[in-house]
Amino acid sequence: MTAKTMSVQTLIIGAGFSGIGMGKTLIKEGATDFQIIEESNDFGGTWHLNRYPGCACDIPTELYSFSDEPWKWERLYSSWDEIHKYLVHVADKYGLRAYARFGRHVERAYWDDDENRWHVFTAQGDHYAAQFVISGVGALNIPQVPEFDGLDQYKGIAFHSARWNKDVDLRGKRVAIIGTGASAIQIIPAIIDQVAELHLYQRTAPWVIPNFNREYSRFERFVLNHIPGARRSLRNGVFLAQELLGLGMTRFPGALQGLEKLGRWNIHRTVKDENLRKELTPDWTLACKRLLKSNGWYPALVDPKTQLITDGVQRFTPTGIIANDGAERDVDVVIFATGFHVSDSYTFLDIKGRDGIDLVDRWNNEGMQALRGVTVADMPNLFFLLGPNTGYGHNSVVFNIECQIRYAMQLIKAVEKRNATAVMPKRKAQDDYNKWLQKNLKNTVWDVGGCNSWYFDKHGVNSVLFSDIATIYWLKTRLLKKGEYEFIRQES
Ligand code: NAP
Repeated sequence: MTAKTMSVQTLIIGAGFSGIGMGKTLIKEGATDFQIIEESNDFGGTWHLNRYPGCACDIPTELYSFSDEPWKWERLYSSWDEIHKYLVHVADKYGLRAYARFGRHVERAYWDDDENRWHVFTAQGDHYAAQFVISGVGALNIPQVPEFDGLDQYKGIAFHSARWNKDVDLRGKRVAIIGTGASAIQIIPAIIDQVAELHLYQRTAPWVIPNFNREYSRFERFVLNHIPGARRSLRNGVFLAQELLGLGMTRFPGALQGLEKLGRWNIHRTVKDENLRKELTPDWTLACKRLLKSNGWYPALVDPKTQLITDGVQRFTPTGIIANDGAERDVDVVIFATGFHVSDSYTFLDIKGRDGIDLVDRWNNEGMQALRGVTVADMPNLFFLLGPNTGYGHNSVVFNIECQIRYAMQLIKAVEKRNATAVMPKRKAQDDYNKWLQKNLKNTVWDVGGCNSWYFDKHGVNSVLFSDIATIYWLKTRLLKKGEYEFIRQES
């Protein structure tokens, strides 16, 4: 062991919703032998890193929060800074700062078959030895910037939406935005009044329905804050409404046509030009990609300062971008709202489990798979929060994280109860679960909706989303099926 080796029972990687949720649960269980390591310099995860103008949650925040930590939210859908404040509050309330080390980027980890524990190494030279490792790094944390020709020669300012450069004053600037996903539709309405020109490079038109966000009225605040059960009832009501939407996405894609009408109406009420309407109207079923909500998107696109470019980026020049139709447009700033590495995010890891089995090689060959999204065969005592096939198109991932924490805690307790040192799923149980999941995914809007989305990996398999509504995921993770697991005991 080197001088820097630190032994802990549980190592949590990441200090966002997942890491804070796990730390909070351990504290509640009376555990103190754990450490949280985080690459950035504060709690918050995605809500610490994503600080672009207009950044907000698109799931009602009453539900996008821990079930045991209610908060007096200002609005129905909160902005990033309020969510960040909430997360820091929860972390401090449970004293997690004392367990956290920031500025630590995990580079590799391996399972030692003799010691029955993980060895985890950071780029900063730390070495942790841990019985249990919880990955709380999330699915949307590695920004993706496409490798456009000539990008390295571009002399202007360029940054990714999730790494917003707050020192850049956009006032009076010619700004290009590439991408029309959840981030772009929040950024553009927030900056359109500042910029001199906005060049929007759209590869695929998104479905955007009106956003019913608003501040709570004084009366609503009074009810929510003072009537016992009111806040919980609102949370439950929001959950049920989201689940109905989820039923449409997962079982009855035809039922989403009503929302498509709302999306078309949203275009028609603002965009009067027939050609522009056509360019902005998607040719795939609503919710096949993430369903977006905005009142400012179409007004920003009909602003005389905006140019919609649908021919695609051919290449960058030192001063701007040439589109595929040959038109060259100079810009001062380029913002990449081009999303994240998701279905290939594991390629940024180096994890070796039992018998030196390489998780990256396996997922490269077979696709990303886990049992119930949390545990992986041959990877003892490793628990993924928001692992493979645990995302939703309709509901709060915080609900999912809580299901996964409960599930992981059951496994950790089962190890302790059996005087074992480790647990991992049987390969057959993992395969059977994934067969069921992939069969179920076949009927969903993500599969039949006629779009290309980042939910699918290079094998053409959806490795990102759960195949059903959140209630089913809750049922799948509520009780541990111990027969699905193999327990390892330390040879003495
Ligand atoms: P995204 O949904 O992946 O959108 C990326 C956009 O960039 C798409 O329009 C994509 O076009 C375009 N793009 C990618 N590569 C391109 C290329 N080479 N050339 C031209 N265009 C390219 O990313 P995002 O908007 O950052 O959102 C990612 C996820 O983050 C969301 O789905 C959501 O889960 C989460 N998010 C959530 C919130 C929230 O409110 N909770 C807010 C922001 C983000 P195509 O559509 O053609 O692929």
